[in-house]
Amino acid sequence: MKFIIATNNAKKLVELERILNPLGIEAVSAKEAGVILDDVDETGTTFMENAYLKANAAFKKTGMPAVADDSGICVDALNGKPGIYSARYSAEDCFTDEQRTAKILEQLRDVPDEKRGAHYTCAICCILPDGEVIDIEETCEGKIGYSFVGEGGFGYDPIFVQGDKTFAQLTPEEKDKVSHRGKALRRLRDELNEYFSEKH
Ligand code: IMP
Repeated sequence: MKFIIATNNAKKLVELERILNPLGIEAVSAKEAGVILDDVDETGTTFMENAYLKANAAFKKTGMPAVADDSGICVDALNGKPGIYSARYSAEDCFTDEQRTAKILEQLRDVPDEKRGAHYTCAICCILPDGEVIDIEETCEGKIGYSFVGEGGFGYDPIFVQGDKTFAQLTPEEKDKVSHRGKALRRLRDELNEYFSEKH
């Protein structure tokens, strides 16, 4: 079955496709499906509300089942910021992921090890052909490192540490096993299996 992946974020799309394709879901990007998502305002106050806004826009425009991910990093020492604003954090002086990541390192410059906790959150909203909505939210705990380390992943991965490695040092498969997005999409797979086998 084909699902529209309602994102403009190319790197996120790669992760979503990588996890969804082996589950038998053919992931079609919004762009490939001719859906312009630029006019979807992420006006929600939670990850899930924003995921729903994106999925619903794609579903409404195409009538095809749609999956959207809204995600971000929540830093304890910043009272949970940037949270839902992760992609546009400190927009007055940061214009790239690298600048936003450097901003967090700078803000945590004097914060001791035990207070550098952080987590990623991923909200997945999936809208099925009959309009049924599946909502899933998962988190992934870690801490903020002291410098950029590693070449993989995207966004804040070079400073997000679990154990002795940043997420940017993990292989894609290693990241998917423990990440917020990997966990949420495996739950989505289970819910879709149930939906298609039992209810329909
Ligand atoms: P969204 O597209 O509005 O959901 O923004 C998500 C933002 O959160 C991304 O642009 C990244 O900055 C950050 N983010 C979400 N998931 C990850 C991840 O797995 N690694 C690194 N950064 C992430």
